Amino acid sequence: MSKKYDIAIIGGGIVGLATAYRILLKDPELKLVILEKEDHEAAHQTGHNSGVIHSGLYYKPGSLKASNCITGYKMLLEFCDENKIPYELCGKIVVATSKDELSQLDILYQRGIENGLTGILRLNEAEIKEREPNCNGISGLYVPQTGIISYKSVCKVLKEKILNAGGEILFNFKVTGIKVSEGACNIKSIEKLILSELAINCAGLYSDKVAEFSEPNLDTRIIPFRGEYYMIKPEKQHLVKNLIYPVPDPNFPFLGVHFTRMIEGGVEAGPNAVFAFKREGYKKTDINFGDLWNSISWPGFRKVALKYWKTGIGEFYRSYSKSAFTKALQKLVPVITKDDLIPAGSGVRAQACDRTGGLLDDFKIVEKPGVINILNAPSPAATSSLSIGQTVAELALKRLKRAN
Ligand SMILES: Cc1cc2nc3c(=O)[nH]c(=O)nc-3n(C[C@H](O)[C@H](O)[C@H](O)COP(=O)(O)OP(=O)(O)OC[C@H]3O[C@@H](n4cnc5c(N)ncnc54)[C@H](O)[C@@H]3O)c2cc1C
Repeated sequence: MSKKYDIAIIGGGIVGLATAYRILLKDPELKLVILEKEDHEAAHQTGHNSGVIHSGLYYKPGSLKASNCITGYKMLLEFCDENKIPYELCGKIVVATSKDELSQLDILYQRGIENGLTGILRLNEAEIKEREPNCNGISGLYVPQTGIISYKSVCKVLKEKILNAGGEILFNFKVTGIKVSEGACNIKSIEKLILSELAINCAGLYSDKVAEFSEPNLDTRIIPFRGEYYMIKPEKQHLVKNLIYPVPDPNFPFLGVHFTRMIEGGVEAGPNAVFAFKREGYKKTDINFGDLWNSISWPGFRKVALKYWKTGIGEFYRSYSKSAFTKALQKLVPVITKDDLIPAGSGVRAQACDRTGGLLDDFKIVEKPGVINILNAPSPAATSSLSIGQTVAELALKRLKRAN
């Protein structure tokens, strides 16, 4: 006889863990399990990200991204303080390197103010140099709230707290089907079956596939975009003091290659954004024909490809040509050379795309009978995770109460 849970969370990334943590804080009596297909937590997006605590600068005021980033930022710092997780609020600069980026820089400044950020400064050329002596920009912003952290460390503590509160985590449990019937979800892997009153889908790069188990006509699909990094070699790390970002392309959901000082030491450069032929494909040569077909057969993807083909080719070119990657970085720090860069890791972003070719900008949470699906949780979802977790916990507890 299978054990029956109140809540089963699919996915042991930061969003699944933060959701479980918030639920158990609100109701420690609940029988909760996390089902994770890998043998450890934070194995995918969460464990391969840039480690930046985002301030909330970029996001449309009133959007879920803006509100959850601002609230999640505060919750994350509190959680880190309580649990002695190292982080550093080193601030970042965003720099315009040509006149045509100035209006977008103004928009960012306004957004930051509207999102309640205090202390943002406008920088002229000399002030940029005061903060980052090797950075060339004609105008910039300084955002003091931005920080650096290891999200793997946050997840380790979240995992301990969940286990201490009586939650369970089943690793190596790949969900292969969910059947929703009255009062229970049957959630199966190849070998096991568990029963749960409610399932919460936090499966990141596979969130659409998991959602399709209970919603075959899903209107979004996850398109994977790999982000590749270089490290600056140790003797040149002094070229970058903290975090240096370009002005992002407003039509594209990614921030552009940038420099990030890491909490564990070292300076990373990247990530780019290359269409990936495998959802969890961390190498250029990784290909999974099922995943690839899933992307290219989606009507929305073909529209995205038509709209952004130039940007896409540029990203592929930069992926294969170190010189081209270096050139993009030289816009920000002209003295950096190809020889200063050592290939480092990569991460793959789960970017939801609708049928009409829209790359979803905001977080997306959809409730269905028996299941809550988190269908789009791209950056800054790591920063925002405790706030997203809080929202989902409230939805989940309301659902269980209604059912009882
Ligand atoms: C390159 C890169 C840089 C980023 N930089 C930042 C940053 O600096 N700051 C920031 O705030 N955000 C950043 N992000 C975004 C952030 O990392 C993600 O938004 C966040 O990690 C999403 O967490 P998640 O739990 O939804 O997904 P994941 O971390 O991907 O977790 C999903 C989990 O679900 C599991 N799973 C999938 N399918 C199944 C199944 N069928 N059965 C069981 N388990 C399953 C997976 O194994 C995985 O562990 C970045 C992302 C990337 C890729």
